[in-house]
Amino acid sequence: MSNSYEQIFENNRKWVESKISQDQDFFTNLAATQTPEYLYIGCSDSRATAEELMGAKPGEVFVTRNIANVVNTLDMSSTSVIQYAVEHLKVKHIIVCGHYNCGGVKAAMTPQDLGLLNPWLRNIRDVYRIHQAELDSIEDEHKRYDRLVELNVQEQCINVIKMACVQERYITENFPIVHGWVFDLRTGKLIDLEIDFENILKDIQKIYDLTNSDWMMRNK
Ligand SMILES: [Zn+2]
Repeated sequence: MSNSYEQIFENNRKWVESKISQDQDFFTNLAATQTPEYLYIGCSDSRATAEELMGAKPGEVFVTRNIANVVNTLDMSSTSVIQYAVEHLKVKHIIVCGHYNCGGVKAAMTPQDLGLLNPWLRNIRDVYRIHQAELDSIEDEHKRYDRLVELNVQEQCINVIKMACVQERYITENFPIVHGWVFDLRTGKLIDLEIDFENILKDIQKIYDLTNSDWMMRNK
């Protein structure tokens, strides 16, 4: 895309034309309602888009993005998005998608004061602490960085599952299913980490369970 600001509106005009040429009612239908099956929680990184890499159309994915795809209980933005997606849109799947070469994860691996970013990046430093033994055993710095990207996705998935609205909907409907993905910028491939929630939650579910029911999150 050209750097020209005006080019954006030119692109939009062409996009509208092409959509209408394929389907005259495209925008009438788009304006009517949304019934997305997917909630996508991704990184703000300009290279790790949501819809484009999934081949999804407008209306198919509810999206929130922030630095390093963090789900923090005190962040009203991501928690409101999850609550709305689960209770009102009744999404079937919640995806946390990280990406290799994530600047946020890299910054969290580096000991430095980044001012206002410190509290946000501490979420990722805490992921490092939880998985310190595994991460410190990886000698290659690039591999350690890749692994922290994956473990950060895993921990943010667990943070999604800690939410009462997710647990309650799951018990009654058997969804939303939570998925952890990584987008590999180097190849363009989307990788399903196939996180074994059953195993991971085995010891900690009693701490985070907010219901009176027996339940176990599947990953499929
Ligand atoms: Zn990132």
